[in-house]
Amino acid sequence: MKNASDGQPPIEPAKEIRVGISSCLLGDEVRFDGGHKRDRFITDTLSQFVTFVPVCPEMEIGLGSPRESMHLAKVDGEIRLVTTKTHEDLTDRMAGYARTRVAQIEQMKLCGFILKKDSPSCGMERVKVYGPLRTAPAKTGRGLFAAELIARHSDLPIEEEGRLCDPRLRDNFFVRLFAYRRLRFLFDTEWKLGDLVAFHTAEKLLIRAHDPVVYRKLGRLVAVAGQMPREEVEKAYRHDFSSALRKLATTRKVTDVLQHTIGHLRKHIDDASRHELLGLFEDFRGGLVPLVVPLTLLRHHLRHHQISYLQGQTFLEPHPKELMLRNHV
Ligand code: SF4
Repeated sequence: MKNASDGQPPIEPAKEIRVGISSCLLGDEVRFDGGHKRDRFITDTLSQFVTFVPVCPEMEIGLGSPRESMHLAKVDGEIRLVTTKTHEDLTDRMAGYARTRVAQIEQMKLCGFILKKDSPSCGMERVKVYGPLRTAPAKTGRGLFAAELIARHSDLPIEEEGRLCDPRLRDNFFVRLFAYRRLRFLFDTEWKLGDLVAFHTAEKLLIRAHDPVVYRKLGRLVAVAGQMPREEVEKAYRHDFSSALRKLATTRKVTDVLQHTIGHLRKHIDDASRHELLGLFEDFRGGLVPLVVPLTLLRHHLRHHQISYLQGQTFLEPHPKELMLRNHV
């Protein structure tokens, strides 16, 4: 077992970031119509940074491709998964499969999951639920596999490919994905209190940009962690860290964090440089420039003046820059 105290870098090779995915998004021809739903960002860009673990629940319960389509239907007050023409009820088969497959996720060491939207098996939210004939379906359902995955792994970053088209949601998902990998790397080791303190120190500004309230709560937890059982500390830290990053880092919160960094630079930069930075922070707040602009100048000053506390903050580069996510938020 690796130990974070061995002086190893805190991030393992990127290819070891394992992400579960609805396999039709990779271009696998597994859909009911024999086709796929390849997502170019996923196959051409994200695939360079993560290892995908493809899952197609409908194929894995033994249905072929092509196959009869299916949907969610409300029958006697219960949500059932039924085929659209022959009305075969696949609920129990899918639910049993989902329980077993999702239980394997822990062994698979996944850091996240990308689901296909609108699917009665994989859809995360707003999946159509059909009622009596001639009534419009209600967009209130969740695919059966997705429901089991979310219920059993509430801390795991899970997102639909459709929502990843929104630059802010996309940035947030990848922040969570790479943060979850770092967290897994910490807690998969025989971690010591010093490892947790070092981890938390590096994540401080990132957590604060997402949720200032949980940021303070986690600070209090780390301060008393030495007097608590390790399992309790790990459980509480995992939960609060994940729930903090689930909140969107809004422009206002990110600007607050950027302005906070000025305090650390005050002794090192002159007034002109300080005003230049503050001006860019305001431009970012006003939507005139994307986040990458103030961050680039900030990183330049930190490198030049060797401000090691800030240089070590994951907030500055929470995911690989090649993904170019910060060019759009
Ligand atoms: S949405 Fe899910 S069940 Fe449907 S084809 Fe894609 S992976 Fe298979």
